[in-house]
Amino acid sequence: MAGYKNPMSGSPLEAKIISKRFGLPNSTSVDVYLQHDGYQALEKALAMKPEAVINEVKNSGLRGRGGAGFNTGMKWSFVPKQSAKPKYVVCNADESEPGTCKDRPLMEYDPHQLIEGIIIAGYSIQAHQGFIYIRGEYRYLLEIVDRALAEAYARGYLGKNLRGSGFDFELSTHTGAGAYECGEETALLNSLEGLRGYPRVKPPFPAVVGLYGGPTVINNVETLANVPHIILNGAEWYAKLGSPKNGGTRLFCLSGHIARPGVYELPMGFPLRRMIEEVGGGVLGGKQLKAVIPGGSSCPVLTANEIDVAMDYDAVAKIGSMLGSGGVIVMDEDTCMVKVACRIMKFYAHESCGWCIPCREGTSWLEHLLDRFHSGGALPGDPDTALDVAYNILGKTLCPLGDAAAMPTISLLKKFRHEFEEHLRLGHCPYEQKAVSVA
Ligand code: SF4
Repeated sequence: MAGYKNPMSGSPLEAKIISKRFGLPNSTSVDVYLQHDGYQALEKALAMKPEAVINEVKNSGLRGRGGAGFNTGMKWSFVPKQSAKPKYVVCNADESEPGTCKDRPLMEYDPHQLIEGIIIAGYSIQAHQGFIYIRGEYRYLLEIVDRALAEAYARGYLGKNLRGSGFDFELSTHTGAGAYECGEETALLNSLEGLRGYPRVKPPFPAVVGLYGGPTVINNVETLANVPHIILNGAEWYAKLGSPKNGGTRLFCLSGHIARPGVYELPMGFPLRRMIEEVGGGVLGGKQLKAVIPGGSSCPVLTANEIDVAMDYDAVAKIGSMLGSGGVIVMDEDTCMVKVACRIMKFYAHESCGWCIPCREGTSWLEHLLDRFHSGGALPGDPDTALDVAYNILGKTLCPLGDAAAMPTISLLKKFRHEFEEHLRLGHCPYEQKAVSVA
């Protein structure tokens, strides 16, 4: 934790809901949390019927903030009411998508908000045990979250008979070993069970057969952090904060060639152009914008002409990309898009778990092919070969990592093909001297 800088940069355009306690002195303590509406939503939820809690979350329009964007309440409603096996709630804190760093401040500055959200999720599906699976590289957050858990136990918000309600809930942390793949929900469950972090074949989905074979709700940190606010203020209030079918706010992580990088909480549907120009202060050094990755490195890239888009799941999908995990990576006019493609593929080839052939072989081939564009030595047919390899990964793998590798590559090869051909013609990178690495 030493030397770590608050990533929340602050902008008057922000709508602070889940980040409202960031910056308060001693914001991680239960006393400060209780002074600022803490655990009131849990008290309210415990007085409601579990189905009513699910309906409230469903109607709020909260969609999974990990990347998939599925309606959270709907996901909870898939958990069977009766189950022979115990039910579980698992918080996916394995934040690993390049360009994304928003779950980190949620745990670092307001762990009780997350804990409260998890308990409410547990109550809604009548689970009695939960886990927070934290990525290996976030090990320093363990101390903060574990201390908050101990405080919650001491005050009766965790353990037996929560606040005299008759409901029991146990919650603990678990760290991964730093594998990107373990952010995939079924690989995470395997890892949590002590198995190798390979994904499971779906169906069955975790809501029916999850951790230790029991019905399991798995949600991202940011998703669960929103839950207390929905219960406290109502579904209608929350839905109105965002755009149609995209309730609430979103933590966007602005990075790359941007004047004011940071994590900003903005309403769902906030225009991407304003996010770059007004919230982030424009492109670093007053340069021209070349491209933007709107939701983490697995999302298809947008050109400078495509930034007049509302940042919600549906609007970004409509123009062929994804809102993903909220990692907005800005690239200026001097960025070599071939190098961007190389860097992204290097990551996915490294992180491929190797279980299915299109991903295991395809990402390595692409890494090799893209690298020879940049370092010289590419062959005339390479742009089409690279596209062919990428299309042979897309939709043909067991888990979404294959698509995550293929989609940005396809978009870069299509939208910036002239740069690949220029590398081919010159035999070297024309940007080498002036480019600032986005890696
Ligand atoms: Fe493993 Fe890649 Fe197949 Fe996913 S797509 S199971 S990461 S080899």
